[in-house]
Amino acid sequence: MLDIVLPDQIRPVDGRFGSGPSKVRQEAVESLARVAPGLLGTSHRQAPVKAQVGRLREGLRVFFGLPEGYEVALGNGGATLFWDAAAFGLIRERSAHAVFGEFSSKFAAVTRAAPFLADPLVTESPFGTHPDLHADPTADLYALTHNETSTGVVMPVTRPDGISAEQGLVAVDATSAAGALTFDPADCDAYYFAPQKAFASDGGLWIALLSPASMRRLDEIAASGRHIPTMLDIRLALENSRKDQTYNTPAVATLYLMAEQVDWMNAHGGLAWAAKDCAAKAGHLYDWAASRDWASPFVADPAQRSNVVCTIDLDESVRADEVVKVLRANGVVDIDAYRKLGRNQLRIAVFPAVEAGDVERLTAALDYVVDALRSAAG
Ligand SMILES: *Cc1c(COP(=O)(O)O)cnc(C)c1O
Repeated sequence: MLDIVLPDQIRPVDGRFGSGPSKVRQEAVESLARVAPGLLGTSHRQAPVKAQVGRLREGLRVFFGLPEGYEVALGNGGATLFWDAAAFGLIRERSAHAVFGEFSSKFAAVTRAAPFLADPLVTESPFGTHPDLHADPTADLYALTHNETSTGVVMPVTRPDGISAEQGLVAVDATSAAGALTFDPADCDAYYFAPQKAFASDGGLWIALLSPASMRRLDEIAASGRHIPTMLDIRLALENSRKDQTYNTPAVATLYLMAEQVDWMNAHGGLAWAAKDCAAKAGHLYDWAASRDWASPFVADPAQRSNVVCTIDLDESVRADEVVKVLRANGVVDIDAYRKLGRNQLRIAVFPAVEAGDVERLTAALDYVVDALRSAAG
């Protein structure tokens, strides 16, 4: 293994470019350390922790500009738990899924396996693109993925033509999009995500922005007598959220770090600011890739390229796994492609916490490493 050492001026100050878990701002960690004696290790049923849940819910309401009647619900278990919770609580009979990567296919697999639901309708497209979901009279929930983290493809959040929320809820897995990509909350009924991506915190929680129609659906299905396990009961989570609590014990540090990130982004200009900042960083990466003869953006259609998770294919003359290994030895971590995609690819996340200067240093570092590997290979 070559001993390639990055010169200081091109070594990212912070080398965390992972797609989740992702960079947690050190300022937030230090803030947590300061408040810790009055917060960590104290009851989540008392004022100090409840104040953090309230701060987070209010911060998200402002950040997303939620319309009247929408509510912020949260619970333990991450985005993966929300797929099961949605299968129990939001789907009457049949869901329709846009499947174009690992995460979107996992939700479809959940609904296919649920014995109380009909087989889902699945519209697939090749990796590196997204399919469009069309209205279907047999579907009562449409499952979109705002940003497919495995491939770096972004899809617009829209309602299928002519479909009202009562006929078909729009549920959006926004785990890696939320906080960095714009959308209109009025175009969806459940926009759900976890804190370890754009919200620069740890994993383990799910958060969902729920529309009035989705809350009516929760009530309707609960009234139908379907058994819903308590940990998967979105109504129960919502009741607790309204009291600034979670149904069972949350990770208090995760809540605090997320609330810090939301306030930090709101102070900079909210979602519009974050989206613009991420677009500029992603633009730098894609332009850089397009200008190298050994690199190219994986997603062919520029309109479908993610502004948060940038996938960059490397020419066969350069081995991505070697580049990744050298960079890891230099403190630059988690830029490998999604393992099951099986491509000679780098996947670089530029969430709001990632500094633009570090993205510039990263492309300079990539040039340096590839040069060094090539000259060593002769
Ligand atoms: C990371 C991710 C998930 C899984 O999130 P967990 O919190 O680990 O359950 C689901 N969907 C998408 C799009 C993701 O990026």
